[in-house]
Amino acid sequence: MKKLERRDFIKAATFSAAAFTVASGIPGCGNNEKKNNTSGYSGKTFNWRMVTTWSPHFPLLGEYADKMAVWIDEMSGGRLKIQVYGGGELVPALETFDAVSQGVAEMGHGAPYYWAGKIPAAQFFSGIPFGMNTQQTNAWLFDGGGIQLWEQTYAPHNLIPFVCGNTGGQMGGWFNKEINSLADLQGLKIRMPGLGGKVITKAGASAILSPGSELYTNLERGVIDALEWIGPYHDYLMGFHKIAKYYYSPGWQEPTGTLELIVNKNAYESLPADLQSIIRCAASAVTMQLLSGFEQKNAEYLLKLKNEDKINLKDFPDDVLNKLKEFALQVFNEITNADAQSKKVYESYKEFQIQTHEWTAIAEKNY
Ligand code: CA
Repeated sequence: MKKLERRDFIKAATFSAAAFTVASGIPGCGNNEKKNNTSGYSGKTFNWRMVTTWSPHFPLLGEYADKMAVWIDEMSGGRLKIQVYGGGELVPALETFDAVSQGVAEMGHGAPYYWAGKIPAAQFFSGIPFGMNTQQTNAWLFDGGGIQLWEQTYAPHNLIPFVCGNTGGQMGGWFNKEINSLADLQGLKIRMPGLGGKVITKAGASAILSPGSELYTNLERGVIDALEWIGPYHDYLMGFHKIAKYYYSPGWQEPTGTLELIVNKNAYESLPADLQSIIRCAASAVTMQLLSGFEQKNAEYLLKLKNEDKINLKDFPDDVLNKLKEFALQVFNEITNADAQSKKVYESYKEFQIQTHEWTAIAEKNY
């Protein structure tokens, strides 16, 4: 497979903040309001660029960025043409946010937790340790006020966010040592970015930020003792099963993985209403189909790993998970106490999580 170019650190960056507000319509497909725009159909052709945080044509993630551009071209009758760039092709992967904010590209595709270094609240839109699953998270985003908070969070950066894909639940990662108690995590060097990394640090492990392209070598050489990546499909492509003894679940650190489309606000508002609506619908279509792609591939490759490669599947013990959950709440408290927008977003998230809990217990867990 192609080498992965995304790096697991957030570059410090400066940017100019333009204050404005985004009027929030119902954020599903086909509900686009004519915001600041009354032009309707226009024969004008727009040539846009989409930068992404994925290496070019990266399995599923990059592939769906490519597909979205094709769908938009087709739906618009060729009036909105989008050239897709993998990370590093136009700008480095982790400069996607700034590039779209500044109008270097009109759109970007990636994951909101990449921007946690500059916008702490962003990481609460991606999926958080012991948080809601994909179905619940989508319900919060689309119908529970999540997307409006997300728009508000990105507004000072001249960006409009759209939910645009999801990895589904992930795996807990590859270990060369059995985890039977919390003490087994102590001193381990684990590649785990984001909020999960902060949680395992509290458990006495070290969160290492290895770039994707170096993960295999680092695990093989013992630079790291364990790692989490995505799920069976992408992990298989990386070959981790050849060098790690145990494959742990659940993926407590990422029970869902919301992806984003970000659009430069000025560029968006320059479009006639039908093209705006097409973007919104294409993002919604990616949200559904990318998740289906993940589900199908993960199911197929989990069986492949089990049956052909005879991997050793393990569950984290309940007491380890319970302790990690306590650490996660400490991490959320620290972040939300230091940042008002994070507090606002997390409060909304938490309220929805509590509200949805009983329905999920009856509708899904009982089943
Ligand atoms: Ca992951």
